[in-house]
This record gives sequence, C-alpha cells and structure tokens, in this order.
Amino acid sequence: MEKLLVINSGSSSLKFKLFVMPEEKEVADGLVDRIGIAGSKIKIKYGDGQKYENEEEIKDHEVAVDRLTFLLKDLGIVKELNEITAVGHRVVAGGEYFKHSVVVDDEVIKHIDEIADMAPLHNPANLMGIKAFKEILPDAFSVASFDTAFHQTMPAVNYLYSTPYEWYKDYSVRRYGAHGISHKYVSQLAAEKLGKPVEDLKLITCHLGAGSSVCAVKNGKSFDVSMGFTPLTGVTMATRSGDVDAALLGYMMDKLNIDSMDEMLDILNHKSGLIGISGVSSDMRDLLEAEGQGNKRAGLAIDMFVKNVVKYIGEYIAEMGGVDGIVFTAGIGENSIPVRKRIMDRLDYLGLTYDDSKNSENYEGVISQPDSKVAVLRLSTNEELMIARDIMKLKKEA
Ligand code: ADP
Repeated sequence: MEKLLVINSGSSSLKFKLFVMPEEKEVADGLVDRIGIAGSKIKIKYGDGQKYENEEEIKDHEVAVDRLTFLLKDLGIVKELNEITAVGHRVVAGGEYFKHSVVVDDEVIKHIDEIADMAPLHNPANLMGIKAFKEILPDAFSVASFDTAFHQTMPAVNYLYSTPYEWYKDYSVRRYGAHGISHKYVSQLAAEKLGKPVEDLKLITCHLGAGSSVCAVKNGKSFDVSMGFTPLTGVTMATRSGDVDAALLGYMMDKLNIDSMDEMLDILNHKSGLIGISGVSSDMRDLLEAEGQGNKRAGLAIDMFVKNVVKYIGEYIAEMGGVDGIVFTAGIGENSIPVRKRIMDRLDYLGLTYDDSKNSENYEGVISQPDSKVAVLRLSTNEELMIARDIMKLKKEA
C-alpha cells in the first residue's frame, strides 16, 4: 500500500487528489483557488465526509504546495509526508516530445518549458507545480502526464493541416488534441463495461464539459480528435468558438478596428461558443432553463452544440468505417440527460436505441438498449486515477 498525490495546477489554482494504491482508493481531494489573487481559498475533503475550508493569503504556487502539504499532515490525512511516495502532474501540452507519461527529470522540465507557446496559460503553471513539489517532497517519484500524449498515435493523415508542409517540419504545426487522459480512461473503461478488449473496438468518446472534444479511438488508440493545435477548435464550447474559417480573423479585425491578434484570440477563446451565441450564459444548465422559458438564442446555442457533436461523431464513423460504442463523459456528458438525449435522437439512423431509465444522472455504464446497433455509455471520467495508474506503471519499470 502506498499513497500517491495527483496534481492539476492551473494559472491560479491547484487541484489535487490523494490515492491509496494499488487499491485505487481516493482518500482526499481538494483545491487551492485564487492563487496570487485576493480571496485565496483552500478546500479539502477527506476521510468519511470531513471537510476543511479556509480563506487565507496564498501568494504563489510554492506557498500553495507548502500549505497543502502542511494541511495533509495537520489534518491527519497522512502521518508523515514521506508516506507520499509519488506525485503525478497533469500537463496540458506535451508537443511531439511526449507520447506517454514520463518520470520528471531536467530534460523533461526543459521540454515542457520549450513548448509553453502551445499552452501559454497552462504549461508554465504546470511547471510551477512540478518545481514546488520537487522542493518540498524531494524524495517522491515525480511523474508528468500529458493531455496531448494519447493523441500521439494519430496517423499523419489525421494530424496534419492542409497548410504548407514546412509549417509542420519547421514549426511543429499540427493537430495535438487535448483531454487525452480522459479519452484514454473512458475508452478503457468502456471496453471493460462492454466485456471486449479495447484493441477490438471502434469507439467515439465525447468529453463534453466547459471545454469539449470528441475523439475517435480505434483499437485502443487515438485515431482522430476534434481539438487542434490548441484547444480552441472542434465543437462549440462554453466560451470557445470551436471551428471557424481563419479568414474571418482579418475580416473582423478590420470591422472592429482591432489590431492585435491576442485580442481576437481572446474573443474566440472567451466570448464565443455557448455564451457568444446565446448572450445568456456559458453554462449548459442555464441555457436549458432559458430555452425552457422561451429564449430562442439559448435554444440555438444548444442546437449548435448538439449539431457539432453529431457532426464529429458522423465524421469519425466515416473515418473508422463504423463504430461499436459512443461514450459520454465530463460535466455535460455525464450530467445532462436532455443533451445526451438530443444527441442520441439525432443518431437513430445508426439503429441506435437507448434505455430511458438508464439515461439518468448517476447510471454508470451502458445506456443503450440490448438490441441497439451501437452501444452508448455514460461514464464518469477520472483523469487523476488514470495518472495514478500511470505512476504505478512507471514505478514498476523504474
Ligand atoms: P471543465 O472543462 O472545466 O473540466 P466540466 O467537465 O466540469 O468542465 O464541465 C463543466 C460544465 O458542465 C458546466 O459549465 C456546465 O455547463 C456543465 N454541467 C454540469 N452539470 C450539468 C447538468 N446537470 N446539466 C447540464 N450541464 C451541466
């Protein structure tokens, strides 16, 4: 039995889960929020429903890690810090360097830093987390897991853009995708639930949250994914535009008198998608409610979201030459019964039928009917557990 800590650090937050392995038991999870911003907060859930919450000044990631490790001991979650034998870090962009999770060394740190341009908000924050834990738990095994790594198996025909080939050769311009840890986790779990080896299946995993991506998982490997060079593209998202015609940028810069590309990208990243279309909210729950009250633009935003997911599912069925199972996961995918329903209703041409009693909030598993031509699954994703499993694997190999 050993304790592993999994860290997901963002620019102003640090989320964590503590696992006991190999039992895969989650013993604590929590969040340090608003790091470096007024009103920083620490929240920890542990034991059998115990909670710790405090507002205090946390000026940077190092202080956050310091407080977190202090509290793990102080709250009795661990007796000694050296019980934590490994720390796993979720890193957003791994470029072409990382095809799977790796043990962190100086070279790994250098590469994560080098490709920070591909995830300017995330990679530097991920690195801060890695370095802070190296200071405080120097003896713990340190692992980096990348959101892009799972997609490194995509064939060139799917990862290249039809732009000059030199852009790829000289500047690494290609589709990297994201949410890879989640797509990998749910595709493996789906295979388990279907009682078949993942290597024998064609799956389409729909990670639908604030950020959304759809992935074609062919024989256990990522074959294509809707996110691109960055997580801006693909389906309509909470505040991100998803796919747009690149020529629109120059046209709108002219119309809006904007001369900075950063400002344009800010609009596409933060003021588009569900919020941009509806003008109501970026949250699917609010939109469903507004639509129910007759708000047409809220309804349009939901319809566009549904259409985009249906479009990518269709595209990936065509690319893979069929599909055995479709998986719904993440905030919207797991929790929104009506959105799942609307997507599945559009797929009845596949001979897909679902069980209304299983298309519920908490049912974990197959929600299609036994005679459905395509299986549909609702699965809770667990990126942290996937990272914890990767740590165990790397520890064994070390
Ligand atoms: P993130 O990409 O930040 O990890 P999540 O996967 O947690 O996002 O998804 C968050 C989103 O899930 C919310 O913005 C909201 O739109 C949606 N969501 C959560 N619960 C529900 C629900 N019951 N019905 C519809 N949408 C929901």
